[in-house]
Order: sequence, then structure tokens, then C-alpha cells
Amino acid sequence: MNNLSFPRPRQSEIAEGLRAEVREFVDGWHGNRHNAASFSGFDPEFSEALGKRGWIGMGFPTRYRGGGYGLMERLVVLEELLAVRAPIFAHAVAERQSGPLLLRFGTERQREEILPRIAAGTCYFCIGLSEPDSGSDLASVRTRATKVDGGWRVNGAKIWTSSAHRTHYMILLCRTAPASEVRQAGLSQFLVDMKTPGITCRPIVNIAGDHDFNEVHFQDVFLADDALIGVEGQGWQQVTSELTFERSGPDRFMSHMGAVEEFVAVLKTQPSAEGARTVGRLVAHLSTLRRMSRSIAAMITDEQDASLHAALVKDLGTCFEQEIPETLRLVLQTEPEPGASDAYSAALANVILHAPSCTIRGGTKEVLRGIVAKSLGLR
Ligand SMILES: Cc1cc2nc3c(=O)[nH]c(=O)nc-3n(C[C@H](O)[C@H](O)[C@H](O)COP(=O)(O)OP(=O)(O)OC[C@H]3O[C@@H](n4cnc5c(N)ncnc54)[C@H](O)[C@@H]3O)c2cc1C
Repeated sequence: MNNLSFPRPRQSEIAEGLRAEVREFVDGWHGNRHNAASFSGFDPEFSEALGKRGWIGMGFPTRYRGGGYGLMERLVVLEELLAVRAPIFAHAVAERQSGPLLLRFGTERQREEILPRIAAGTCYFCIGLSEPDSGSDLASVRTRATKVDGGWRVNGAKIWTSSAHRTHYMILLCRTAPASEVRQAGLSQFLVDMKTPGITCRPIVNIAGDHDFNEVHFQDVFLADDALIGVEGQGWQQVTSELTFERSGPDRFMSHMGAVEEFVAVLKTQPSAEGARTVGRLVAHLSTLRRMSRSIAAMITDEQDASLHAALVKDLGTCFEQEIPETLRLVLQTEPEPGASDAYSAALANVILHAPSCTIRGGTKEVLRGIVAKSLGLR
């Protein structure tokens, strides 16, 4: 069996200094904090305000308007924003994975054109991976880009594409060569302007009644040669590195903390031993996950492969998030009610509706456990 260890995370004085600054900034911000699933709040005005403070694309080099910071500084800012349920979803995908992907595999022109806009909080991305018949098994994607004069012609459909109707670009994974014995071969990634003729978004309303997902259809969509990201046929390898960014951050275990915060506020007026034990257990789990996530940031900084560690954090973190509503319901007998004036009741309803999706988005827990087992040499 392979060895598995999480190196000690590094302390960063710069990061801790930033923590105080972010707290001051969010204290002065009067947005709605009662939507308990903070990660889903889409607010371009807030994203732009963060961009002006230099808190988006903090790890991008300064020549692309980034802060030139390390991952630890970015984690601190993210933790503070998630803790107050700030609406960061507009820019979150771009800054978490699309920007870093372009930085690593994009052309200089793509980087110069896009990264400064991401850092400014004005350019948003969606992820075009899942298809009606390909979710977990991404190697089976059927959306196809065919080589034509000066570019590529794309036909096919993506599904569950979060925010496709309100983002500027998609990173599209599609087939550029016929399927072969090596199923992961022949896939490529493209930078797609969502305004390109031939792209249609059809809304899918989720269980909470919100329009976040979409079906995205491509009908004879022309993409110029310079839309290719990285190397033709290397899409699988590129997307795997993108998922490491996606899977290990605090948004994978802190997005339901709003309900816990409201729960603690109620407990202050109705203290109980069971309540205290529950809060203690939740905080113990949270601090362990936080340490693991910070450890992965150190590994990525040192250019170590952290894909196994990231899969573990996502599995443990999203199961933790998913159990929060049930854990809280066993202590306080409150009726969950979406939009209720009682902050705890509204927050509880919100996390109950979002909990099922925690262990599906970004890779299901079964698939992640398969990755972990394989990486550890257990199958
Ligand atoms: C909130 C949310 C946001 C999302 N946003 C996006 C997005 O922006 N872009 C995007 O491309 N996709 C997005 N998705 C889609 C998501 O990535 C897929 O739903 C997910 O990968 C599962 O694929 P599927 O739905 O096709 O299920 P399937 O792959 O059909 O899986 C069905 C079940 O079978 C299990 N299963 C499948 N294969 C295996 C295996 N090898 N071993 C064990 N069990 C297995 C799965 O765990 C699952 O329980 C989002 C999903 C959610 C819930």
C-alpha cells in the first residue's frame, strides 16, 4: 500500500495579516447573510468590490493583475468570506480553477486577455464537463470538435452546467479524435465565449427552486484555432489537474457553516449539554478538515501531486457538510421553512435542500472513494 501523509501546513504572517483586513471589509458590507449556502450567492457587484481590493486571483502573477501571493493567503481570504456567507459564486469557478488552468496550459494571448479580467472580478466561467450520458465517466463524453479550416466545429450537449446562463466563458471538454482503446485519449479542452453563435442554454430549476444549472447545446459552433487550451488530445490530463484545484478548498466543507452559526445563536438562548456536545464535534471535524486542506495548499505550492489528498478532503468534507442538517435537527426541534423570518429556520431549510448535491457536484463520493482506493493500491 502507498504511504499517505498530510504534511504540516505552513504558517504565513502575511496571510494572518490579511485575515484582519478581510474581516474589516466584510464587517462594513451589508449584504444578505441569511442565505445559509453562501457558496451559491451570485453577486457581480460584490465580486467587483473584492477584485478592487486585490482579493481575486491572488495567486496570479502581477503581470496579469494578480497579487503574486501564495495559496495560503488565498485560503485565508476564502475562509473569511465563507464564514460570513459572502456571495462569491460569480467569480469563484474562474478564480478557483479556470484561471489557474489557463495559467498552466493556456496560450500567452489567452492569459493576457482573460486573467486580468478574472482578477478584477468581472469575468466569470462555467465548467463544461458533464453530459446527459457522461457524468462520473468523463472519458465517455460525446460532444465533438471536428477540425475545419481555421478552427473547430463543435456539436453536442452539456448538462448540469452551473451558471452557464450568466458566465462569460466555458472551459469545454470534448472529443477531438474518435474513441479508441485508451478511453481517455483524444479529448481536448477549449476556451469558449458563451456568446458564440450556435450555443443555447436551457434552464434546469433545482430542488430549492433556483435556476443555477443549465443544459448547454452546441450546434455547429465555430471555435477558432486559438480557442484550444494546451495540447490537442491532452484534455484528460489537463482536466485532472483542474479537479485538484476544485476538490481541496474550504468551499468543500464550509458552505453550510451559515446554518451552524444560526444554530449556535439559538443555543445561546437555549443552552443544553447535547447542544454543546454537537457544537464541539462539529468544530473538531471542521478544524481537522481545515488542517488537511491547508496541508494540500502546501503540497500544491511545492508542486507535489495532491490528487489523492484532494479526493479524500472532498469526500470527507462534503459528507461532513451533508450531515449538518440532520445533526442540527436532532438537537433543536425547529420547523425548517424557506425564506422564514426566523434566521435559523430559513438557514436550516436552505441546507436541507442543498445537502443532497454536496456529494455529487465535482465528482460523487463513490467515484472519489474509487480514486482513493486505486491510489492507495487497494484495488
Ligand atoms: C450542484 C451541482 C453542480 C454541478 N455543476 C456542474 C458543472 O458546473 N459542470 C459540470 O460539468 N457538471 C456539473 N455537475 C454535474 C456533476 O459533476 C455530475 O452530476 C456528477 O459528476 C455525477 O454524474 P452523473 O450525474 O452523470 O451521475 P452518474 O455518473 O450516472 O452516477 C450515478 C450514480 O452511480 C455512481 N457511480 C458512477 N460511476 C461509478 C463508479 N465507477 N464506481 C462507483 N459508483 C459509481 C455515482 O456515484 C452515482 O451515485 C453538477 C452537479 C451538481 C449536483
